Amino acid sequence: GQCTSACPVGALVETPHWHDVLHTLDGRRRVTAVQVAPATRIAIGEEFGMAPGTVSTGKMIHALRRLGFDYIFDSNFGADLTIMEEATELLGRLAAPSRHRLPLFTSCCPGWVNWVEINRPDLLPHLSTAKSPQQMHGALTKRSAFARTLGPGFSSGCEEPYVVSVMPCTAKKDEAVRPGMAGDLDHAVTTRELARMIKARGIAFHALPDDGAFDQPLGASTGAAQIFAASGGVMEAMVRTAAHFAGVEESLPLEWQPLRGVTQGVKTAQIPGLGKVAICNGIATAQRLLETETWRDEFIAIEVMACVGGCLGGGGEPKSMDPQVLEKRMQAVYSIDKQAPRRRSYENPDVQALYAEELEAPNSVQAHALLHTSYAARNSSRLLLMRFLDCVDRRDG
Ligand code: SF4
Repeated sequence: GQCTSACPVGALVETPHWHDVLHTLDGRRRVTAVQVAPATRIAIGEEFGMAPGTVSTGKMIHALRRLGFDYIFDSNFGADLTIMEEATELLGRLAAPSRHRLPLFTSCCPGWVNWVEINRPDLLPHLSTAKSPQQMHGALTKRSAFARTLGPGFSSGCEEPYVVSVMPCTAKKDEAVRPGMAGDLDHAVTTRELARMIKARGIAFHALPDDGAFDQPLGASTGAAQIFAASGGVMEAMVRTAAHFAGVEESLPLEWQPLRGVTQGVKTAQIPGLGKVAICNGIATAQRLLETETWRDEFIAIEVMACVGGCLGGGGEPKSMDPQVLEKRMQAVYSIDKQAPRRRSYENPDVQALYAEELEAPNSVQAHALLHTSYAARNSSRLLLMRFLDCVDRRDG
């Protein structure tokens, strides 16, 4: 398949925010922080003539510093945290006397969450209440005691830091202003918008060094977080940590090949000691699965990503004419995981420190206050309004 240019179910086209972001960076009135999604680092190079699948993490970090961000963080820290919360939630639901909230559906794709809220509100109890990595990371950066150790600009009494996310996704803009999560961050821009910002500032991306490094804490991550970018990655990451929590990790493989790839069919795997899981690569695949009689009893957890290929096929990623672009980006994602010194989310030392110092444990009261959300049935009028505003705004894009 090829990259789509718009989100299938979310905000549809991107409302440009990059002018606002540059304006705020130029004004420099408060501390500024940015977090970058795993799908951005493996595709941003394409905007500068590099081959699909080129990993540009170091150059991208240098570019963000030149744009004026004070702190460059990694959404992957939020992804590891999402896994801690979601894996704990899954085991809690498995232990509950009633199966009515099983299978658990992943909720980190706002395109999928929007679709459920509008079309199948009966499924809402199945959605994980864990926020997406973007929202968890934003909430931590703005409002946690953990982030306040970073310095004066983060301390209570100061104005909150200005927080931006760079995402492969147009629907992430809508997610950032969702009821219950609005305020976790200030602006979400797409991978393509970041490229426009870099070009607008005349930064020679090619010539930047490769050694840029994320700031700590809130910048450390594992290979499990990186594979969030690919269809099947969220589930594989969750299996790695849920197996540890359930005490069955020793007998299981680390990699789950049946959960990988861009197939349009439902991908499944039987996880010994846990149960059977499923991956839906695109909303159409989820619709087909939901039409079967057996999905409620057959699976313990189902991942749905709205974009074909997952986030690396997102509507905010560079457009490509290469028919193999998704496969090439996917190889880049799994190669980062393979080379990572830590490949399970619970092994992230900063995530461990966050629980030890502030949140106590996954799914604790403190964790719920910062890291979880709720969902509600809604009609599509708000999305239609956004679509209209997008059309108006695009003249400026
Ligand atoms: Fe956004 Fe990823 Fe979902 Fe696509 S799959 S809508 S890029 S979160």
